[in-house]
Amino acid sequence: MILKKIDSGYDLNFAYLIADEKTKEAAIIDPSEDISKVKEEIKGYKIKYIINTHSHEDHIAGNKELINLTNAKIIQHVLSPEKHDISVKDNQKIKVGEIILKFIYTPGHIKDHICILVEDKLFTGDLLFVGTIGGVGPRFKGSNLEEEYNSLQKIAKLSDNTEIYPGHDYGPKKSSTISYEKKHNIFLGPKTFKDFKNLLN
Ligand SMILES: [Zn+2]
Repeated sequence: MILKKIDSGYDLNFAYLIADEKTKEAAIIDPSEDISKVKEEIKGYKIKYIINTHSHEDHIAGNKELINLTNAKIIQHVLSPEKHDISVKDNQKIKVGEIILKFIYTPGHIKDHICILVEDKLFTGDLLFVGTIGGVGPRFKGSNLEEEYNSLQKIAKLSDNTEIYPGHDYGPKKSSTISYEKKHNIFLGPKTFKDFKNLLN
């Protein structure tokens, strides 16, 4: 599998290209606002899907321009209020060439948030950043603290060597692993929701 991390500007957003080496079929995760770098990176690939981890503008703004170039289908969670072609639910899978992508439903930051697991790589959108987590509270419409806690716990159960690829470059490094996050991310520490809530307050 080919993985390209694309610094797509705006709010230190990351877009990702995942491609099958053999067939050159590919998917773009979160094209973000400025797709000029994405346009460069997709040359030579057949972009089958645009996948949005969630419906916030900074993750979906580039969809339209990218569709005009590629005819890709947009994949979002079934609860997304935004325009998309394929609605997915927890545990649903799709193939890109020979690569299997699995969607994991992870609400908390917003109701329609998904993470995408591809082999040993997890694309975490705005659920989990390196060393920190996505925003919850009054500023984030549709966010829910308890859902955020449960989603983080769900992700923490994945294998320790699972690599983490976040939606923003907010941490001390650009990507990490579940094991690194368990050691260094204080928000993965609490064993109960009550402790998690106390930590955030
Ligand atoms: Zn967001």
